[in-house]
Amino acid sequence: MENVIIIGTGCAGYTSAIYTARANLEPLMLTGTQPGGQLTTTTEVENFPGFPEGVMGPELMMNMQKQAEKFGARIEYANVEAVEKRDDGSFLVKTSAGEHEARTVIIATGAAPKHLGLPNEKDLIGRGLTSCATCDGAFYRDVPVAVIGGGDSACEEATFLTRFASKVYLIHRRDELRASKIMAERALENPKIEPVWNSTVTEYLTDEAGEVRAVTLKNLQDGGEKELELKCVFVAIGHVPNSAFLGDLVDKDENGYILQNPGRTSTKTEGLFAAGDVADHYYRQAVTAAGQGCAAALEAERYLAEHE
Ligand code: NAP
Repeated sequence: MENVIIIGTGCAGYTSAIYTARANLEPLMLTGTQPGGQLTTTTEVENFPGFPEGVMGPELMMNMQKQAEKFGARIEYANVEAVEKRDDGSFLVKTSAGEHEARTVIIATGAAPKHLGLPNEKDLIGRGLTSCATCDGAFYRDVPVAVIGGGDSACEEATFLTRFASKVYLIHRRDELRASKIMAERALENPKIEPVWNSTVTEYLTDEAGEVRAVTLKNLQDGGEKELELKCVFVAIGHVPNSAFLGDLVDKDENGYILQNPGRTSTKTEGLFAAGDVADHYYRQAVTAAGQGCAAALEAERYLAEHE
């Protein structure tokens, strides 16, 4: 029986692993389908404390992995399909490769940004296509960029991007924003933001270097198409938390984010903790995920001590 199984190997998962491994709990990590999490899909990370020159996302994750393994964390490349709570209070974790038993489980499975589903999308991530203005906005100074979406995220990202970009197109499929009034007003009153209503992106166009140089816009009212030149597209059409496999073990909000107990990473199921983007639609930062990973590890450690 494992003391701790950590599901997910992003910032939250690795930080939980470092802490529980240093507490001699020998955590077992199960990677899921994206080992290293969302930071493996970004380029340079400039806002993780301790790296004044910035650090490449994949390198940061490799270092977290090394640090966790150095203290005894074990990593298994498997996708978790279900978690069950048993009558004796322990957990059965069913993976694509088999089953594990554990006394506590930390869910750190993150969230996946939604994309439009266009053909060359995956290849363009980090090459003028991204879902994180905080991460990548500063790379696009004095050039036009676009944000796709009409919610709070899109308005927040568009407003943030005006610090750098010469112009920010806000491309929305309707003529009314979904965002809260205050966020919508802030975005629409900003002279650098130009809304592009009733429109959708049907194609990402690239230059010889394979970087995004423009998009094809389709007007959903008259069907007309036009090219819009820009240097980067920020897709802000929502995230999907990776929580579906948990069934009724946790309560979730209407978007699938796990609800933690107030001020804690514990959940409604004793011994089950949640950390990082799977439980956080609000901050969604590497460093806040790491912080929650630390909190979940400390709570799991205390739970184990109390249930010896
Ligand atoms: P969201 O509220 O679900 O908005 C997603 C937006 O993307 C909507 O405008 C939607 O259009 C559009 N969209 C969805 N699928 C699309 C597609 N396939 N093609 C084109 N457009 C598409 O997501 P969010 O903005 O990420 O916000 C998620 C939650 O976090 C919300 O509860 C939000 O309030 C909260 N949040 C809060 C803050 C804050 O308070 N500081 C900041 C960010 C997020 P439609 O409007 O037509 O459906």
